[in-house]
Amino acid sequence: MRNFFKGVRKRIGKLDAEQLREQYTLIADEADFLEKLFMANSEGIIVLDENGNAIKSNTAARELLGMDPAAVVENLAIPLGRASKREMTISYPDEKTLEMKTLPTKSATIVYLRDITAEKARTEEELRVGATKAVRDLAAGVAHEIANPLNAISLNLQLLQRVHPEEESLKTCREQVERLSDILHGFLQALRPSRPNLMPGSIAEPLKNCLAALEKQIEERRIAVTLDVPDAIPAVAIDKLQFEQVYFNLLKNSIEALHEGGIIDIDVRADDSDAIVTIRDNGEGMNEEQLVHLFEPYRTTKEKGTGLGLMVSARIVRDHGGTISAESKPGEGTAFTIRIPRLEKRIRALKG
Ligand code: ADP
Ligand code: MG
Repeated sequence: MRNFFKGVRKRIGKLDAEQLREQYTLIADEADFLEKLFMANSEGIIVLDENGNAIKSNTAARELLGMDPAAVVENLAIPLGRASKREMTISYPDEKTLEMKTLPTKSATIVYLRDITAEKARTEEELRVGATKAVRDLAAGVAHEIANPLNAISLNLQLLQRVHPEEESLKTCREQVERLSDILHGFLQALRPSRPNLMPGSIAEPLKNCLAALEKQIEERRIAVTLDVPDAIPAVAIDKLQFEQVYFNLLKNSIEALHEGGIIDIDVRADDSDAIVTIRDNGEGMNEEQLVHLFEPYRTTKEKGTGLGLMVSARIVRDHGGTISAESKPGEGTAFTIRIPRLEKRIRALKG
């Protein structure tokens, strides 16, 4: 551009009227083009003369300030003739934060305005999330530190119990320590969600380990468990250990909701899109109020409950791309249904 003007300036004496008109048209077109760019710029731009009067401004500047920039530049305390950058808040036409940059030219100061309200809010949110995370990490660290000695206490209490099997106070101690340990583990799981380590597998397989771990409790309370698994079940992407945890939480809740001699039916099946597991008990059931808040942390109706089992389970299922739902009637029982997308479905979905 500059070279173009230089060239014209050099030869201007030699140009006839026709050539001058041609050059003039070129310049006018160029000015028109620049004017359009200037007006369409999403950044607000104001040009100030040496005295600080606004001699030119674009639409964005007017919109950001809510009125003709010429009328308000005085209040903006713009530093003339030097480069600067600062933030300011304005409350009209609505509350927002603007970034203002100035850039000096030979005879003017150009002011750039940009709305950074959303950007700023995002940064603040990020800081807040960061602080929350720090507190959570600290809490998880402390819980972890408590869990280890607690484990040792529990083991030693077990040994003492062997020597003094009739001692009631030892039994009470062990129960309390186990309760503390349950709370800590629930808390740790809730605080430290680990990403599932997904592998192709069967949704039914982790059930077996889990039932084995609960076998004693199930026997003691004379609960009947039926397990209905078809021979072939379509593969899903699954973290088996995490799913053992889910089944454990659900089955434990069922056991706790059942009277002696109750029934738990476990049904595994598949439809076109998902592998599905339903765990149904004929225990005490839940009312509507309980159902509305199900899966929320710290909601428990049990004297010794933590209210974390379902929340952790739901998160694991969600991390597998699946869903968990519950149906229940007071006095009749409860059914939890987990759906995980079939592996081939998942891959197809990824390919789009
Ligand atoms: P917790 O077992 O420590 O109370 P959970 O998150 O596992 O925490 O369960 C939350 C609440 O949901 C329980 O306290 C209970 O009221 C209700 N609940 C969960 N599963 C069942 C079930 N199978 N039958 C009846 N109520 C249940
Ligand atoms: Mg529970």
